[in-house]
Amino acid sequence: MPVPTGAVTVTYQAPLRELRFVLHELIRDKRLSESARYPDYSVDFADSVLDAAGEFAQEVLAPINRVGDTKGVTWTPDGVVVTPEFKNAFAQFVAGGWTQLRGPQAFGGQGVPAVLGTAVEELWGSANLAFKLCPMLTQAAVEAIHRCGTEQQKQTYLPKLISGEWTGTMQLTESQAGSDLSAIRTRATREGDHYRIYGQKIFITWGDHDCVPNIIGLVLARVDGAPGGVKGISLFIVPKFLEGADGKFDQRNDVRCVSIEHKLGIHASPTCVLSFGDSSGAVAYLVGEENRGLEYMFIMMNAARLSVGLEGYALSEASYQHALAYARARIQGKPKNPQAGAKGALPIASHPDVKRMLLTMKSTTDAERALAVYAAMQFDLAQNETASAARANLLARGELLIPIVKAWCTELGVRLTSLGVQVHGGMGFIEETGAAQFFRDSRICPIYEGTTGIQAGDLAGRKVARDAGTAMFALIEDMQAELKSLKSNDAAVAAGTTIAIESIALLRSATESLLAAWRQDPDRALSVSVPYLMLSGFVIGGWLMAKSQHIAAAASSGDAEFYASKLQLTRFYLEHVMPECLSLASVVMNGVDSVMEADPALL
Ligand SMILES: Cc1cc2nc3c(=O)[nH]c(=O)nc-3n(C[C@H](O)[C@H](O)[C@H](O)COP(=O)(O)OP(=O)(O)OC[C@H]3O[C@@H](n4cnc5c(N)ncnc54)[C@H](O)[C@@H]3O)c2cc1C
Repeated sequence: MPVPTGAVTVTYQAPLRELRFVLHELIRDKRLSESARYPDYSVDFADSVLDAAGEFAQEVLAPINRVGDTKGVTWTPDGVVVTPEFKNAFAQFVAGGWTQLRGPQAFGGQGVPAVLGTAVEELWGSANLAFKLCPMLTQAAVEAIHRCGTEQQKQTYLPKLISGEWTGTMQLTESQAGSDLSAIRTRATREGDHYRIYGQKIFITWGDHDCVPNIIGLVLARVDGAPGGVKGISLFIVPKFLEGADGKFDQRNDVRCVSIEHKLGIHASPTCVLSFGDSSGAVAYLVGEENRGLEYMFIMMNAARLSVGLEGYALSEASYQHALAYARARIQGKPKNPQAGAKGALPIASHPDVKRMLLTMKSTTDAERALAVYAAMQFDLAQNETASAARANLLARGELLIPIVKAWCTELGVRLTSLGVQVHGGMGFIEETGAAQFFRDSRICPIYEGTTGIQAGDLAGRKVARDAGTAMFALIEDMQAELKSLKSNDAAVAAGTTIAIESIALLRSATESLLAAWRQDPDRALSVSVPYLMLSGFVIGGWLMAKSQHIAAAASSGDAEFYASKLQLTRFYLEHVMPECLSLASVVMNGVDSVMEADPALL
């Protein structure tokens, strides 16, 4: 039996084509290409970056995905050691200038718009999620220092983080402080122009490794005497190596990786327990003002949550590519209807149920990608907008969408990569096919960077209830108005648009119901906040898929095969995937009491 392996079957041509469609046709906005902020941004520029990224993902990152899964990383008393393959890939990533893509130009970055950065990151996540996390966290550290650091901190750290000479980490979690960061105990003591940090952080991704000589931690800690709770948390820069008298960063700081975790997936990404201050205290530099650390972290959260959200569909895309290749190669079963033309044994891709699984994987992945890139664009447009009211509206829409991208895409990532295993049958359960790795790797995505429950609470509370639904109702209005303005003589397209419009009406009713529940008691809204979030994702995805259907139906020239495929995928999404909105809306509107009245003692 042919067993397609990880490196052989994934091709980036299909996702690249889809990314071009999303960027240049579906969410195209001339405000971006005309922006003085991005003078180099054009269709040709975006395509050339995507092509080069696709090639790097395919040639360098995908071939070592399984190597990382099987060999993992090694803890030693002197530090964490990654495989030579990963070390080499990281060096190539740096040499190719990829660490610079999103960094600010003033410090050696290319400063590309978030839409393009988001598109490229999908390719890294598809090819090798464990690898992707290192540049992603470095980018988050760059953003924190750039937005909140002093001029001296920017000059010291940004050029080296952006060039890839050093990497960065985000260090929030402690054993008693996960979702609830108010419980942080790591403490900081003032000492002249710096601080000394004592305590322990757990689960720190790429917290230690040997790809680069220095690692810059962005660490949350509590200054001695600070108020309790979230109001007493500060943000610090804690480098692994400090600057010596000669200007070289060769003085070992008092922070050490004391162990690494053994995990379900992303084996090549070191998940570290870091201990601070075992001897003299780890030297740390305050970012911004004392006690505003969580606020600064939240500035970075949008980018980090968007980036984790895209991991959900990046893995689904890779899983789909593998499943499709397998389903075309695997012969099993005979046609039920020989008159239809097929004779003899069939590739499983021809069985209606396998076709259904593949259509589910591909169409849902496309909807998620469209939503994530649309969300990223709100921040690009906001940065470029000079009118304050318009800018505030763009930011409000972007922020509304962030928890939906994070949680909807990652929850679906688990579902879709599981379908990828299912398409393979028994071979999906066998590691050589690579199908199982995508499933295992995807399981962390709804957990880290704020669990699905935390995202849903953010959506219901901060994003919907706080402004009495203003941002959500504005999006609902825009989606509905746009779809109502689209006309088609094609019956399937018209039917798809009707489904999407009806689902938007469901989201309106569910939003009103959620707001009423929140006003009564926030816990009532929180008891249905995850179904509400999932409903929002399917509906907004449905709007973008209905729009895509119209674009594909109207396309008269160019890539006929692509548009024909787009037509069948959008139709499938609207007819097969969207009906889940009915059950989710019903849960939001009728399911509060069965949670509220349930006694946890009887669970
Ligand atoms: C592989 C890996 C990598 C990680 N990388 C990093 C990193 O680089 N930096 C870092 O700082 N952290 C990192 N983390 C930590 C990660 O962000 C936390 O594990 C996550 O935020 C959840 O916290 P917790 O594990 O303490 O779970 P808990 O907070 O104990 O949550 C357990 C369950 O309770 C639910 N829950 C808890 N509180 C609420 C609430 N208020 N409302 C609704 N539901 C709630 C959660 O949704 C979850 O289902 C990583 C974790 C892992 C496993």
